[in-house]
Amino acid sequence: GLRCRSGFKLAHMDEQLGWLRPGRAVLDLGAAPGAWSQEAARRVNATGALPGAPRGFVLGLDLLPVEPLDGVSFLGGTDVRAADTETKVRALLPGGAAHLVLSDMAPRASGVRALDHEQSLALCGAALALALVILRPGGHFLCKFWDGASSEELRARLRAAFRDVRALKPPASRRDSAELYLAASGLRAPRRP
Ligand code: SAM
Repeated sequence: GLRCRSGFKLAHMDEQLGWLRPGRAVLDLGAAPGAWSQEAARRVNATGALPGAPRGFVLGLDLLPVEPLDGVSFLGGTDVRAADTETKVRALLPGGAAHLVLSDMAPRASGVRALDHEQSLALCGAALALALVILRPGGHFLCKFWDGASSEELRARLRAAFRDVRALKPPASRRDSAELYLAASGLRAPRRP
């Protein structure tokens, strides 16, 4: 099913990134129907199934409601762009912060490629704004977008905030789609004035 195919994509990317380790706290944006959250929960040991390994935490957020999953907390009916989302997320994350922010959010496709591209970048911008205030220092950020004319601007913004940025195209994503992921690792400490 869809849950599985999507989860495989995250699994494949994490084989390269190695971010989802036991004990880590993950914020999963655009989490419905829940495949990424489920895969992340398994990898960070959110249910404590790996004996002797630190227990992680996964918070999934989506505009849509999400069916409950073992080891995952969900904020359904929540827009990442809403003014009170940061407060809600902070209240649920252990210590009010995350090691990883993942975004598989996608806008409703209009079919007009340039427009869909801009809207997907706008969602990445919203995900990044939340990540910058929710991530622990040294934390990591992954976001999906539809490639196009303004992709380089997002890349530049990520490069300014993180130590390393790379593009990933998981094999499970349709070859003809413009879908890409940017993986930004090592949030830099804010510059003091
Ligand atoms: N990663 C999910 C999984 O593995 O099951 C699939 C995510 S699906 C491709 C994209 C999701 O982004 C949709 O469920 C949609 O509701 C959500 N989304 C789009 N815009 C959003 C927004 N502004 N705030 C929160 N979620 C949003």
